[in-house]
Amino acid sequence: MKFFNRINLILHSIRFRLALWFVLILAILLIGFSGMLFYMQTQELRAESLIRLESKLETIERAFGSDTVNAQIAGTQGFPIITSDDNTVFQKEDVLALYNPDGSLLKMWGPFTEALSLDFSQTSRDAGREPSIQLLTLKNVDDQIQYVFKIVPLYSRDVFKGYLALGIPLDPRGQLGRLLVTLVILIGSTLMISFAGGFWLADRAMRPVKIIAAKARSISETDLSQRFHLPKKDEIGQLAGTFDSMLARLESAFARQRQFTADASHELRTPLTIVNLETTRALSAPRPAKEYQRALQVIQSENELMSRLVNDMLTLARMDANRESMQKELLDLSDLALDVVERLTPLAARQEIKLETGGLPEVLISGDRQPLMQMLTNLVENAIKYTAQNGFDKTRHILVETGAHLTRTLGWVRVTDTGPGIPDEHLAHLFDRFYRVDESRARSDESENESAPSGSGLGLAIVEGIARLHGGDIQVQSELGKGTIFEITFPLYVESATKSLTQ
Ligand code: ADP
Repeated sequence: MKFFNRINLILHSIRFRLALWFVLILAILLIGFSGMLFYMQTQELRAESLIRLESKLETIERAFGSDTVNAQIAGTQGFPIITSDDNTVFQKEDVLALYNPDGSLLKMWGPFTEALSLDFSQTSRDAGREPSIQLLTLKNVDDQIQYVFKIVPLYSRDVFKGYLALGIPLDPRGQLGRLLVTLVILIGSTLMISFAGGFWLADRAMRPVKIIAAKARSISETDLSQRFHLPKKDEIGQLAGTFDSMLARLESAFARQRQFTADASHELRTPLTIVNLETTRALSAPRPAKEYQRALQVIQSENELMSRLVNDMLTLARMDANRESMQKELLDLSDLALDVVERLTPLAARQEIKLETGGLPEVLISGDRQPLMQMLTNLVENAIKYTAQNGFDKTRHILVETGAHLTRTLGWVRVTDTGPGIPDEHLAHLFDRFYRVDESRARSDESENESAPSGSGLGLAIVEGIARLHGGDIQVQSELGKGTIFEITFPLYVESATKSLTQ
């Protein structure tokens, strides 16, 4: 069973099919060429035979005289031995036959006894006295021989007397037979050698595929660090290279996912522990109502924190999952900016921060309103949150403005705050998920600063994700003690995008 499976596998393998196709095409070519060669050889032999026939007939005519040849030869008892100047006219394999005018055999000489099935209708009796040529296959004792016959009408004083048929073997030296055998042996051995060579070559070419398959089987979801490392010279090497880079991408995606899950559980663990501690403490003994109230307030605030965290995680997960399902429409970035500023002004006012809009010229982009609003909200909320950390002796001012680059291909929205600023070394990681500049800032002091959202480290990751989904690019400039500027650049709406928007 195993043997048959193996054979079946080989028969269905690419290397076998490649070799077979190769041999098939070669066979067609070889057989075609050989056929042509054989045909040309036959034609040549036929032409040679006709010349020999002609000269034999001439000798007969010379020997017996054309008019009386029939009567004279017919009278001859044995095979008419005629010698010409250089050789004997008839060889022992030649056939000479005389026919009556009605086509019945008068006399025949040669190695055959059976009647020849010659067709006299092709030989004209009157007009032109044309002879005809016919090819006949005659049976000898042990094999079949091809003969060329020339049939000549015989006349005696212009009276039709019958036919003379002279036949000689087409291939007296057996050249055609030898050629056929040689060709068959040559074609057969060439095809066998080419099949073996083709199979070997295809096998060699397919070997890297086997290596790739074996390695791919051994790569598991948990171990994506393996690579094929094949030389990239040929197509299969390039394919392996593509797989390698795909594996690298998968590996980092899996690593990110693992990190995300670990961070998420870490983030949730703290509020859950606080809730657990508070409830255990409150339930451990009867307490005054005020203490229950305080415990419930703590639980509520931790609950809010967890909801925000879960919402942020959900937003990121949705962004990762359906990148294409945004409802894009024609939007004015300045409208969105104004909207966000109006909504967050009360929050800023509570922190005694001046939230203002700067220049807001029309900046048309194609985008999804809801995520873009969230993006701006996150930026302005951050600006409020971190500017609020400044003492009241410092400027507490946030500016939101929009504009377009001179090239008229890009538009931007900018949020400038007068917060504490971000140290340079953190700027590169700012948009990583769960990244916080200062871990101690993660949990705001609720009692002192109740409106400020405590940080999860997901806000800027969401901002960056939304910007990227809109083809945007985000830049940060920050100076410690002076403030931070977040600027997001978007491709401006162009006429040609109208179609995709209306679809
Ligand atoms: P968080 O929810 O902690 O604010 P973000 O992803 O929004 O998370 O921000 C990541 C980090 O970037 C924050 O921990 C904060 O330290 C820093 N950051 C963001 N915006 C500002 C800002 N306007 N001024 C100063 N620091 C900022």
